[in-house]
Amino acid sequence: MIHLGLIGYPLGHSLSPKLHNAALHYCDLQGEYSLFPIEPDDLQSLRRLLERVRSREITGLNVTIPHKQNVIPFLDQLSGTAEVTGAVNTIYRHNEILLGGNTDAPGFLVDLNRFLATHLPWRAVPGETRRHRGSFNKNALILGAGGSARAVVYALLKDGWEVTIAARRLEQAQQFVDLFTNYRLQIADLTLLNIELSNITLIVNTTPVGMIPNTDQSPWPENCRFPTHAAIYDLIYNPFETKLVKDARAQGLSAITGRGMLIEQAALAFQLWTGKQVAREIMLSAVGES
Ligand code: NAP
Repeated sequence: MIHLGLIGYPLGHSLSPKLHNAALHYCDLQGEYSLFPIEPDDLQSLRRLLERVRSREITGLNVTIPHKQNVIPFLDQLSGTAEVTGAVNTIYRHNEILLGGNTDAPGFLVDLNRFLATHLPWRAVPGETRRHRGSFNKNALILGAGGSARAVVYALLKDGWEVTIAARRLEQAQQFVDLFTNYRLQIADLTLLNIELSNITLIVNTTPVGMIPNTDQSPWPENCRFPTHAAIYDLIYNPFETKLVKDARAQGLSAITGRGMLIEQAALAFQLWTGKQVAREIMLSAVGES
């Protein structure tokens, strides 16, 4: 019997049980996926839960806000990506070792590249309505500088993108400059966004602004036009179409929300726990546009 679950707080809107129960069914495995809401300061409960993974009572866990950093002291070892980003979203056991991994970074990159392969940014050719494929400048602007931004920035830098991080607190963006010392990162004030935008070809929202129930909000500053060559990737997956995505599409830009990333990171976590590959369509149809 396989016991899986998710640690976080709050967990009301999580789609993870649907994704992983579909994966268990698809792989013909007996098991269950439970939610473990643990309040932000309750580190004792966190430690006790992780001990249940160590003792094999629980097979593996996902981790979400606010515990992606909090779990680290209770683990024996981190994967390379978890180490660099300082964030764990998957806990699993290998022999007697309790490991922390991060499947957000590869999950994001796989889904981003799938999106860009069919929706490369517009090239401003007057009268031209077709999307052009081919080479383009890899200049990304990241909105927000929290846990998921670390995975996104790490994935983009490794994939050869130049990155600007815009945060409402500049000191939080500055932490990225200190973290990724081998790369040249720019930082910007998200509330003003008074930087040159014309070279930007990708905007990634990593803030929760626009998430249910605040679906009338957007992290993009009012009165600021989107760069004309940019594609937009919004990590939010609930709702299926955010205000940011709607506004960008209304301006003729390609834009997508983070459902594909959610599925990729889940499938990679499932593989770490069970050794099984899950067809992404199985997980996609389990959540649909819910
Ligand atoms: P987080 O660690 O709390 O970071 C959120 C970031 O957004 C922080 O920099 C925060 O700044 C900023 N922010 C919050 N409210 C803001 C506002 N009103 N205006 C400007 N900036 C604001 O959260 P996270 O783990 O990175 O998650 C962020 C979002 O990504 C969530 O919606 C989550 O569901 C989504 N996500 C999706 C996937 C996926 O698979 N698709 C994976 C991971 C995360 P302050 O520190 O100043 O508040």
